[in-house]
Amino acid sequence: MRKQLVRFASAGIPIQCGGGNLEAVQCSREMGLGALELEFVRGVKMKEASAAQIKESARKNDVLISSHAPYYVNCCTQEKSKVAGTIRHIFSSAQATSWCGGTITVFHPGYYQKLGKEEAFQAAKKVLLMIKERMDKEKVKCALGAETVGKKSAFGGLDEAVRLHEELGFVWPVLDFAHLLARGDFPCKSEEDYRKLFDTVEKRIPGYGKDFHSHFSSIEYTDKGERNHLPISANRPPYKPLMKMLAENGISGRVVCESPRLEYDALILQNEYLECA
Ligand SMILES: [Zn+2]
Repeated sequence: MRKQLVRFASAGIPIQCGGGNLEAVQCSREMGLGALELEFVRGVKMKEASAAQIKESARKNDVLISSHAPYYVNCCTQEKSKVAGTIRHIFSSAQATSWCGGTITVFHPGYYQKLGKEEAFQAAKKVLLMIKERMDKEKVKCALGAETVGKKSAFGGLDEAVRLHEELGFVWPVLDFAHLLARGDFPCKSEEDYRKLFDTVEKRIPGYGKDFHSHFSSIEYTDKGERNHLPISANRPPYKPLMKMLAENGISGRVVCESPRLEYDALILQNEYLECA
């Protein structure tokens, strides 16, 4: 077997682990998972002192930390109070992640609402630059991960997430395979589709396949896009061809399992990957 280049994580505290985020780090390692995504989705409440303990445990247990920023953000909003809230939530999430020794915080880019696509892009860019300015001022080092969205009404399809990186180097696309499928941004059905997806991103972001960040689950969707996440056994999108493609092409990075079965499914993904590696 080759070296394991892809690490797998539960999206939040694994179901079988007692305690909070701190306990989840060691518990993830004991189950054989080399990464953990902290869920700050209902607000960032992490204090610097408890984050320092997480950082230490993550180092000791060799578990890579990332996080998911609060849901209540919209980088495209035209309302002043919502701009301020978006900046505060994403900044706090990046800060708490860096305190924990993490490298990336994932956020949902936003909604078009009444804006055209280009207007929405420019609005998001402006807000992200304000977040970066605050991060620089407070010496916060953390990448911002633009998750590819699953609804057609949401800003942040594959092309937009990649373009955010092209125009703002500190923002990185986070591939949510289920969302790509549900929104119709990429087919995600066969090994060939997955290879093309990584090739498409790699062409615009050379080196992306050396440290990609992604979310995986199955998904129920309509013509408007995502409805809800499902266990990976639903095979929408199928996980086996993705694991094979990642293993055979020597791609490095992280897959965070967002299925309702969290670590149970993360371990199935990892076993499948290891069988192909
Ligand atoms: Zn998300």
